[in-house]
Amino acid sequence: VICHCLIVGGGIVGLATGLELLRQQAGLKVLLIEKESRLAAHQTGRNSGVIHAGVYYKPGSLKARMAVEGNRSMVAFCREQGVPHEVCGKVIVATEPEEMPLLERLFERGQQNGLELHRLNTDQVRELEPHARCLAGVRVPSTGIVSYGTVCDKLAELFRTCGGEIRTGARVTGIRRTQAGYVVETPVGAFEGKFLVTCAGLHSDRIARLAGESLVARIVPFRGEYYELAPQRRSLVRGLIYPVPNPKFPFLGVHLTRMIDGSVHAGPNAVLAFKREGYCWTDVNIRDLWDSLTFPGFWRLALRNLGEGLREIHRSLSKQAFLRSLQRLVPDLQLADLRPAHAGVRAQALWPNGGLVDDFLLVRGERSVHVCNAPSPAATAALEIGKFIAAELPPLN
Ligand SMILES: Cc1cc2nc3c(=O)[nH]c(=O)nc-3n(C[C@H](O)[C@H](O)[C@H](O)COP(=O)(O)OP(=O)(O)OC[C@H]3O[C@@H](n4cnc5c(N)ncnc54)[C@H](O)[C@@H]3O)c2cc1C
Repeated sequence: VICHCLIVGGGIVGLATGLELLRQQAGLKVLLIEKESRLAAHQTGRNSGVIHAGVYYKPGSLKARMAVEGNRSMVAFCREQGVPHEVCGKVIVATEPEEMPLLERLFERGQQNGLELHRLNTDQVRELEPHARCLAGVRVPSTGIVSYGTVCDKLAELFRTCGGEIRTGARVTGIRRTQAGYVVETPVGAFEGKFLVTCAGLHSDRIARLAGESLVARIVPFRGEYYELAPQRRSLVRGLIYPVPNPKFPFLGVHLTRMIDGSVHAGPNAVLAFKREGYCWTDVNIRDLWDSLTFPGFWRLALRNLGEGLREIHRSLSKQAFLRSLQRLVPDLQLADLRPAHAGVRAQALWPNGGLVDDFLLVRGERSVHVCNAPSPAATAALEIGKFIAAELPPLN
């Protein structure tokens, strides 16, 4: 049987796309293929669980538009579907004088993105976060928290209710063009579809190439490690405390995040992962490592930012160094308060010149769409990315 559409990848982007497609074109036969035995096993199930507001992103970019709109649609989805979530807001704090102009620029950018923001002095920050140290802050009321794993359970349930089918444990190893569309090969069988959408996260560049697209960007996996606060010390953090990001590396800078289960996570840092799904230093995959180390973009990025990179490695190997970064935000934190927690790996695409692919990157083939760069805030924006892709598809029935 030929499906109308095949979707590769059972993370939040693949699932949201499947559901939005069935909402826009009811009655289609849509098959979602995931290599793991469960959904949301990688980025989607291993992130900070923040429903971002859309402060940081360049006005007019897909990230900015889809984060702002996605914040609304994700909160509405959770409310309608009974997914536990909280719109608790967050504070971004400047801890050094040189960060003050950056904080102001961030405030302006957030306003350009249409957000309601509040400038705070030290006392006002202290009212919200009594243990935070800062010179000034910005409050972002629309930021929220959720478990994206739980969101995916709900998306999968609705997708199936609308007639969608999910095959887990099916790794895509080959993709062929046919007269009718595409054949996707997996060890458990081949599947044919008139249209193909790929949302393969850490493998998105390889899958797009397998489908015949020529893509110059490459995914270089950067692991982010977290600590968790000991339960009796959770009271040091009420909500979400973020540093002012380095404009060159918006994804750097450890933050303190209350999770929806009440735990408080600290992180993530950013170090090269020796495997695309390498969650600790000993996870090594020769092909993945070779791919990173032979890509000129990786070396250009690494050499241009050697100091920053070494600091991140140090922070990964030394709990003391990690603690020092956190103490900039909350000085009362002590070594004994931190317990190792989960890690996640970011699928960040790089250009060969060493630049980060800044925006979401969607590549359109003749009868296909490939999501080639969907780092943070793509979990927040997933329903918007899904709507966008679904609207790109021709009538398939
Ligand atoms: C440490 C960290 C913190 C983050 N924090 C946040 C946050 O707080 N808020 C936010 O909005 N975003 C956050 N993000 C980003 C967010 O998690 C991702 O943008 C989002 O999960 C991307 O979803 P995805 O579906 O594209 O990718 P994934 O969740 O990685 O899913 C891709 C899926 O494709 C499957 N796949 C890959 N190859 C194949 C194959 N050959 N055959 C079949 N299946 C395949 C994988 O197994 C995987 O399940 C964070 C990311 C990280 C790593």
